[in-house]
Amino acid sequence: MIPYCDLRAQYKSIKLEIDQAVSRTLESAEFVLGSEVEAFEQEFAKYVGAKHAIAMNSGTSALHLALLAAGVGPGTEVITVPFTFVATTAAIVYTGATPVFVDVTADSLTMDPAQVEAAITPRTRAILPVHLYGQPADLDPLLVIARRHGLTLIEDACQAHGSEYKGRKVGPIGDSGCFSFYPGKNLGAYGEGGLAVTNDAEQARTMRMLRDWGQEQRYHHVLKGFNYRMEGLQGSILRVKLRHLERWTELRRTHAAAYHEVLRSSGLSLPIEKAYARHVYHVFAIRVAERASLQRLLKANGIQSGIHYPVPVHLQPAYADLGYLRGQFPESERAADEVLSLPMYPEMTRTQVDEVCGVLQEAYVF
Ligand SMILES: *Cc1c(COP(=O)(O)O)cnc(C)c1O
Repeated sequence: MIPYCDLRAQYKSIKLEIDQAVSRTLESAEFVLGSEVEAFEQEFAKYVGAKHAIAMNSGTSALHLALLAAGVGPGTEVITVPFTFVATTAAIVYTGATPVFVDVTADSLTMDPAQVEAAITPRTRAILPVHLYGQPADLDPLLVIARRHGLTLIEDACQAHGSEYKGRKVGPIGDSGCFSFYPGKNLGAYGEGGLAVTNDAEQARTMRMLRDWGQEQRYHHVLKGFNYRMEGLQGSILRVKLRHLERWTELRRTHAAAYHEVLRSSGLSLPIEKAYARHVYHVFAIRVAERASLQRLLKANGIQSGIHYPVPVHLQPAYADLGYLRGQFPESERAADEVLSLPMYPEMTRTQVDEVCGVLQEAYVF
């Protein structure tokens, strides 16, 4: 069997370091925030080249607070994409603001900058592109638009740890950037976790207060805050795993190159790496018209696959009240019908990649 991703294999490969970090935290009894979380914040900030990092209990929380710190709230609008995990939209709705969708481009599956200006209204406060699958959105034109209209640019980097745009790590390229450490992400906690980065001291201070009940001093509540604190255990585990992230990312990129090498001449549509990008392949999604039968064939051969995501957010029943209709975002809708995520995780072997390709070759004449 070839799993879609193998978290147990990864734990086994770093068991000694993790077990030591966990027991150190248990001994210290710093269960919420604390010195391990602070050290992780500093190390992650350094890794992506940001001045400030604020660790939280999920990527969704990081998005929520980055939006609030940008002044997003009732009566405002945030421009984002419908082809993403639902959390991007949910975080906007949590603030009381209205999500306004623009479509993705066909090749990158990230926000199409050419569609953004037409979506701006006097109520627009922020632009929230998603670095989907680990491919960065085209940030330069989005930054130009944001500056021209006085908008905040927030990066949803929840799938893009270590991803680069024109040689710079994503996250702090916009005004703020949000990461998720959900176990299956490229950098995953052993539970929930998230973090926001920014170079703006004021936004950092606001997010730091909001994640811990709006207090700067204990029991003095300056803002209406939340319980969005990162756990000490997750901080200590993430510190260990961050030290391996670059190596894991290079392995993902090697597997992606192997998929390309073998499948290049097939009729399959393979994911591209934009010229401006260092893609980190959180997801390696091919596109096929007859997806259901191909997924069945893979399954019959013991190969797991995934669909990220089968329904774009504007067509989800939960967000029907936004009033969007089928046909409004054709690239997102087409992608939702065609994408199929192949097994992709650092611990995969070349033999496993070849085995997946072999099954695909069965279905496709070269
Ligand atoms: C995972 C993810 C989130 C949410 O992160 P959680 O830690 O699960 O809350 C947000 N946006 C995208 C694009 C994601 O993939």
